[in-house]
Amino acid sequence: MFNIDFELIKKYDRPGPRYTSYPTAPHFNSSFTNEKYLDEIIRTNNETNPPDLSLYYHLPFCDTLCFFCGCNMIITRNRDRIQEYIKYLKNEIDLLRTYIIPGRKVVQLHWGGGTPTHLNPDEITDLISFINKSFEIRSNAEEGCEIDPRGLTKEHLEALRSGGFNRISMGVQDFNDKVQKAVNRPQPEEMTTQVVNWVRELGFQSINLDLMYGLPFQTIETFEKTLDTTINISPNRIAVFNYAHVPWMKKHMALIKPEDLPAPEEKLQILKMTIEKLTKAGYVFIGMDHFAKPNDELAVAQRNKKLYRNFQGYSTHAGTDLYGMGITSISQIGKSYSQNLKKEREYFDALNNETLPIERGVYLTEDDILRRHVITKVMCDFELDFKPVEKQFNIEFEEYFSSALNGMQEFIDDGLVEIINRKIVVTQMGRLLIRNIAMNFDGYIERKEDKARYSRTV
Ligand code: SF4
Repeated sequence: MFNIDFELIKKYDRPGPRYTSYPTAPHFNSSFTNEKYLDEIIRTNNETNPPDLSLYYHLPFCDTLCFFCGCNMIITRNRDRIQEYIKYLKNEIDLLRTYIIPGRKVVQLHWGGGTPTHLNPDEITDLISFINKSFEIRSNAEEGCEIDPRGLTKEHLEALRSGGFNRISMGVQDFNDKVQKAVNRPQPEEMTTQVVNWVRELGFQSINLDLMYGLPFQTIETFEKTLDTTINISPNRIAVFNYAHVPWMKKHMALIKPEDLPAPEEKLQILKMTIEKLTKAGYVFIGMDHFAKPNDELAVAQRNKKLYRNFQGYSTHAGTDLYGMGITSISQIGKSYSQNLKKEREYFDALNNETLPIERGVYLTEDDILRRHVITKVMCDFELDFKPVEKQFNIEFEEYFSSALNGMQEFIDDGLVEIINRKIVVTQMGRLLIRNIAMNFDGYIERKEDKARYSRTV
């Protein structure tokens, strides 16, 4: 294991994007309308080999509020409200499938939220069969769903499995009772392990557990116990997210008392211990917040330099068109990004008018496409060979990126990257600061207003 230099981490701790898109979401604008979205769908339909499809469904409803939550969610137990949303989601699917030409196959499908399993098993089965008859889904498609073990029955999982889902991602955050209580998420260990057992029994191929560090009352000792329990459960993937306390952006976070949060130094110690412990237990540090077993597709894709980033984080499916459906969901079609309307009523109204419910988006320029490629390579491969980039984009790398390379000197001096034979190689320490390194290639980041928009990089 490498030594973690806390002084360096502090030095580079500043707001920065997570690069699940480039340009990042704050650069989407309302001049990108639903007509432009439709033009892009038609343009990609007409390509000689139209890209395969990746589908994302946003199911925003949750039963209770977790105080740390940063998602676009709606707390409700009103079943009529949920039913109405599903009805409109189906309208959106109906509208979209009239525009996407037949023959384009779905290779990846994901339900996120919110809590998709706040739908009951019958609603799940009904929505799956609607989706399955609306799109052509490859038999080996990667189909994942986010679940919450609280309120989940085996029937929920059976409905997902028999509908073709083969991957499960489950929120845990922390196994410690005191921490769970402080964030309003009581979830006994037995409940989590019971659900994991059902997932395995039903033959899902992969399970991911989400943890979070930086929550109230966490210490190195308590979080180490959470990691021990997690390692014992042996999920294929583990995500360990950094809790960002931003009550001015997410009002409910004010329900967490700042004095209960671990100090920045302790948080860093927890991060260091987490990386050491999980890598010692055999997990590969994929980057950012993700760990995977060496035989997991993410780790294999990273070894083969086939890893990619999109709105769901790291992905093994590069080159697809991603269609997001449901409020707030984001699509990545051809040379564009777009985001759906955020308010339920506006989303319903757009669909009542049979218009695609787009709120804003952006067309990528040639420079955006080049920089997105470079940033993705840095974030996913931890290295960047200048030659293939020059060949693909017909540029002279040192000339095009002269200011980025000048900025790289500080990272070189700090031992975060090396440049060997016209190749940037990120060191072990640099992997922890990968967002900072990628930011160097971001054509928008220098703008002052940009800096205020992102979470801190460590
Ligand atoms: S269950 Fe998930 S989405 Fe819902 S409030 Fe809790 S963290 Fe947020």
